[in-house]
Amino acid sequence: MAIYLDNSATTPVDPRVVKAMEPWHAQAFGNPSSLHTLGRQARDAVETARAQVAALLGARPREIVFTASGTEADNLALAAADGASGSGHLVTSAIEHPAILETARALERRGVAVTHVPVDADGLVDPAVVRDSMKPRTRMVSIMAANNVIGAIQPVTEIGRAAREAGALFHTDAVQAVGKTPFNLAEQPIDLLSLSAHKLHGPKGVGALYVRDGVTLSPIIHGGGQERGLRSATENVAGIVGFGVAAELAAAEMADDNVRLTALRERLIAGILSACPQAYVIGHRQRRLPGHVCLGFAGQEGEAIRLLLALDEAGIMASTGSACSASHAAEPSYVLRALGFDPFRARGALRLTLGRFNTEAEVDRTIDILPTLVGGLRRIATARR
Ligand code: PLP
Repeated sequence: MAIYLDNSATTPVDPRVVKAMEPWHAQAFGNPSSLHTLGRQARDAVETARAQVAALLGARPREIVFTASGTEADNLALAAADGASGSGHLVTSAIEHPAILETARALERRGVAVTHVPVDADGLVDPAVVRDSMKPRTRMVSIMAANNVIGAIQPVTEIGRAAREAGALFHTDAVQAVGKTPFNLAEQPIDLLSLSAHKLHGPKGVGALYVRDGVTLSPIIHGGGQERGLRSATENVAGIVGFGVAAELAAAEMADDNVRLTALRERLIAGILSACPQAYVIGHRQRRLPGHVCLGFAGQEGEAIRLLLALDEAGIMASTGSACSASHAAEPSYVLRALGFDPFRARGALRLTLGRFNTEAEVDRTIDILPTLVGGLRRIATARR
């Protein structure tokens, strides 16, 4: 049986979510904007899901705007950094997902100033550095809640406070964090938060943006005025229903899942470190997502892709960083470069990410197989020299 250790790229949809989505394709196929019975059923289903997603975040249902992805939620949020005249200033970090970095680049082309704050060697942003980066025209700070490559969890509450003190909005890309770290948005200084269903055992192609009451945004998609005018388009009812159930399951099971995943993560790290003396852990050792392992192999960093393919052949699916950068897989990772890695070492991360359905037996099998593959690649590389 294949072993899937790439849950940060996407998660298997929970069978309970699949079951909940089922009726909303063919039987209950109404458009939530229709006034007849099927339409009203669909509207109720969307509103139930909104309440479920809000409950996971400690938010009010009316603060949840459904989108078609985490990427879209990030784009919608960052549009508020612009300002009518394109005179705004955005503070973000060097290790954001491309959904933020590329959107920031597009804003820059429209005249918005962008500051990328650095991270330390563990991948953490210092809230004091964010505070020092603020300018009178700073409209927004956007710092991710957890990183997709190294799993580092940022001090978002402190960063949010720094943004608030300067009168700026605080957005966090929490696509990797939601369902794995608790949020209570009624109390945290977060104005905007992006999330995505497929990272928490929900379906692909459905995301959401939390928009704190009182924060005004402009839509980036114009049309029939759905989602309080912020995201026109007929709602993806089945996807939204699935998102809602995935959120409800995450709320109910996150605490237990995290205890189990943290134990599995530590078992995996300890097993590999003891069998491969050249292995080292990348990213903060404690402030990291429960199931997230990111490893380097000293001297073999340039062979991460070979290792990944050898693992795949052995039935273990992992990643060298982010699925989003598969086309750049041989290039140094900008995230690792930001941690201070030289270009050679920055080519060599192996990301193993555990999820709800991984077992101890799978972790043990990985510990059995991986060191042999690493050793094999080392022998080949040495023979070539
Ligand atoms: N932000 C982060 C941190 C991510 O890891 C991802 C997906 O990998 C995204 C945004 C994009 O989310 P989506 O795939 O829903 O567009």
